[in-house]
Amino acid sequence: MTHSGPSAFAEVNEKVAQAGEILGLKSGVINALSSCEREVVISIPLRRGDDVEVLTGYRVQHSSARGPRKGGIRFHQDVDLDEVRALASLMTWKTALIDVPFGGAKGGVAVDASKLSPIEKEEIIRRWTRSLVHVLGHHRDIPAPDMGTDARTMAWLMDEYHRLEGFQPACVTGKPVELFGAPGREEATGRGVALIAAATLKQHDVKAKGATVAIQGFGNVGRYAALVCQELGMKVIAISDVSGGIVDKKGIDIASIFMHKSLENVEADERIGSAEVLEIECDILIPAALGSVINDKNASLINARFIIEGANQPITISADRELRAQGVVIVPDILANSGGVMGSYFEWTQNIQEFSWPIEKFRRELDTRMEAAFVNVHKVSRKYSVDLRTAAFVVSVGRVSEAFELRGSLV
Ligand code: NAD
Repeated sequence: MTHSGPSAFAEVNEKVAQAGEILGLKSGVINALSSCEREVVISIPLRRGDDVEVLTGYRVQHSSARGPRKGGIRFHQDVDLDEVRALASLMTWKTALIDVPFGGAKGGVAVDASKLSPIEKEEIIRRWTRSLVHVLGHHRDIPAPDMGTDARTMAWLMDEYHRLEGFQPACVTGKPVELFGAPGREEATGRGVALIAAATLKQHDVKAKGATVAIQGFGNVGRYAALVCQELGMKVIAISDVSGGIVDKKGIDIASIFMHKSLENVEADERIGSAEVLEIECDILIPAALGSVINDKNASLINARFIIEGANQPITISADRELRAQGVVIVPDILANSGGVMGSYFEWTQNIQEFSWPIEKFRRELDTRMEAAFVNVHKVSRKYSVDLRTAAFVVSVGRVSEAFELRGSLV
């Protein structure tokens, strides 16, 4: 979704600058942290029928100060360089916030994933990998799935990488469990979102049992967030995907609809539009689809006490200001959806060690580390008397700038 106002990358950099000022960083360092280390734009000729359609692909590496760059690949028609820069930068802040030894990157292809056949998808990701192999690798830059890509796409990426560079399953994460993936990784982002929702309720003395939840998105993040919220006793009263939304004030049984690919044919008490779910009266709202879905146009219509950002940048900066003025507590994306990259870190380490963990260990580690990041962000929020997003950026920008400075003065 597009919105008028600053670009997505400018919005992230506004937060970086604000955190830099709070920390007293030099303006040159803030500038360095607001720029991307490397940006590669490629063309992908895709055979379609008798003709060839030329797609544009991207890999943006924002920072390697704290380790190899890490970030997903998005297949979506709205992908452009600015969005990929913003998402690459968010990965730097996310990996620093949860203290895993990665930097930040993001990739994408401007294409409508829903209109691709499996063979076309395979052709695109193989070409993307061949064109970018020189900047990828388990100690350089490690991709993962994002919107429009999944474990199968990552399997093709790994296979192409192996053909070119030899065996190294740690070159990509989010792979199928049967092919060097880690049990627990697929659910990790949504599970993390639900854990953060529960922790937020607890912090505000609201019981999880019966707390009402509305979710936009029924893909990887939304689906697991909904399932785990239900497992934790919350009541998911509305959920939507690109085909529309469903509402049941008594609570939707997520477990029973979990295997549906789309909500289109799910029986429901009431049907609403995809975006209307954002305006439902509820305790917790989880936007888990696209960016900028909560903006100046609908901020005043939001009817939730807490917003847990499952998607990246679902709220524009000005809407964020307005909502906070209304008293809404917002848990920012770089904390709320960091379970995905945490899970990717576990998969990466297991691949490198050639030693796999049982899912119980994966979940235990994820839960403990998410909780620690949540507690730390709240501590910093109190210390500087700032909102949670600003606090999260203060933690991350502090860590990345320290690593940047420690690497030396000669750049
Ligand atoms: P996905 O492709 O699996 O699912 C996207 C969902 O959004 C689908 O249900 C789709 O129908 C829905 N959707 C698309 N357009 C919509 C619209 N206009 N209105 C309502 N719903 C719409 O993607 P995902 O992996 O679940 O990612 C969702 C968001 O979470 C993205 O912002 C992504 O960057 C972010 N994220 C994902 C991960 C991850 O591990 N997958 C990690 C961190 C952040």
